[in-house]
Amino acid sequence: MQLYPLFADLTDRPVLVVGGGDVAARKVAMLLRAGAKVTVGAPMLGPELREIARRGRVAYRAGAYQSSWLDGVWLVIAATRSRPLNARIAADGHVRQRLVNVVDDPALSSFQVPAVIDRSPLLVAISSSGAAPVLARRLRERIESLIDPALAPLLQLAQRYRARIRARYADLGSRRRFYDWLHDGPVTALLRASHPLRAEKQLIAALSENSEPTSQGSVVLVGAGPGDPGLLTLRALRALNEADVILHDELISPQVLDLARRDAVQIAVGKRGGGIHTAQDTIHLLLLEHAQAGRCVVRLKGGDPFVFGRGGEELEYLRAHGIAYEVVPGITAALACAAYSGVPLTHRDHAQSVRLVTAHCQHSFNTLDWAELARERQTLAVYMGVSKLDELTRQLLAHGRAADTPFALIENGSLPSQRTLTGTLGDLPALAAQHAIRAPALLILGEVAASAAASHWYGELLDLPTRHPVTANALADAA
Ligand code: SAH
Repeated sequence: MQLYPLFADLTDRPVLVVGGGDVAARKVAMLLRAGAKVTVGAPMLGPELREIARRGRVAYRAGAYQSSWLDGVWLVIAATRSRPLNARIAADGHVRQRLVNVVDDPALSSFQVPAVIDRSPLLVAISSSGAAPVLARRLRERIESLIDPALAPLLQLAQRYRARIRARYADLGSRRRFYDWLHDGPVTALLRASHPLRAEKQLIAALSENSEPTSQGSVVLVGAGPGDPGLLTLRALRALNEADVILHDELISPQVLDLARRDAVQIAVGKRGGGIHTAQDTIHLLLLEHAQAGRCVVRLKGGDPFVFGRGGEELEYLRAHGIAYEVVPGITAALACAAYSGVPLTHRDHAQSVRLVTAHCQHSFNTLDWAELARERQTLAVYMGVSKLDELTRQLLAHGRAADTPFALIENGSLPSQRTLTGTLGDLPALAAQHAIRAPALLILGEVAASAAASHWYGELLDLPTRHPVTANALADAA
């Protein structure tokens, strides 16, 4: 270890910052946050520090640096532009046994300031021992995204009840189990759901019970987005990191599953035609079984769990069985496919509404209001429709949608294998067949789809093929 890590309590302790510019101002801001009594010494102050000094938040010593400034201070930060001057301050500090940091100069410094994640009372500090502070900062950004925002209020709560927790659980083993329960159980879940008072009540209740609280499992319904792992939310990523068990749809990309905790049990509950098929009842039972065994279960669904994802049914089932749950939204296929094919779903001039439609089975076909769907100046985003393109096209044409209405049909949206087919409604079934478009694919139909040909930016754009006017007419006739 090249450096000894330490967290210093600087509350009301005098600290000296030498330098009046932007860098000094940044250091001062951080010291003030930690409650230090800061003196700034410099011949002149920049606008930021001048304002801070004017408000009396720091003391200002105007003039050239003197070694007597070091008297009585605990720490020194040298943030001047002159290396010789910084070196002199460091040497003076050395003689007086003050800890001195020279900004961006580890060789002159006797202490370094780490990159910090501040979720007080939680503090995470990262250092590269001066090797590459920029990389330490990059790492900080990554760690930051992994920290549950509920952790700060949880720690505040734990801080306030620390003495009572110690008294109630005197023995270290049971105390550790209690803290595990606090971290993994209902208190954190309530904080995450923005119920701080109920969380505190739950903690108080647990402390007054005779037996140790047992961990009840819970289920997080997570939307995994359309496939590109970059489209996961931070919350989804955290849930994947915490999961004991992951029940995932078959459509979930391996790249997304790779982000899950290494030792999490992954169970595919596919429902894609041809592959394994798991009945919804079986999925419900699996959720129940694992949650009741006290595990943290993630139910991972493609896109958004509440858009054609049966998330509603699963939630009802969990509620009926008293299992705690959370829902994490995901980027639904319509939004992702539109973005990745350069099609704005709404447009001031061309489309005032968007409809998410499913063309899954005969039942969904018979219950759709075709006259409404065929209206102009709106966008249809059709899910699960590849095998139903013939009938879909026939119905829309029969109900008056023009044969020259543009479409974009996006296969494997947001994945490296994405293909985008463009054309007009009259040619849709023939073109899709010609290019052998397969599920999963999403159809965007409407005036806005015309922009795909020009604005498309991701994956392959299928060449504008030969037109099939006969098909369009035949379809219109047939309808
Ligand atoms: N809950 C999901 C939809 C599930 S229904 C969501 O919000 O996206 C499954 C249908 O979604 C597929 O048949 C297809 O129409 C569409 N879909 C899902 N992922 C897709 C992708 N990567 N590219 C194109 N369509 C996709």
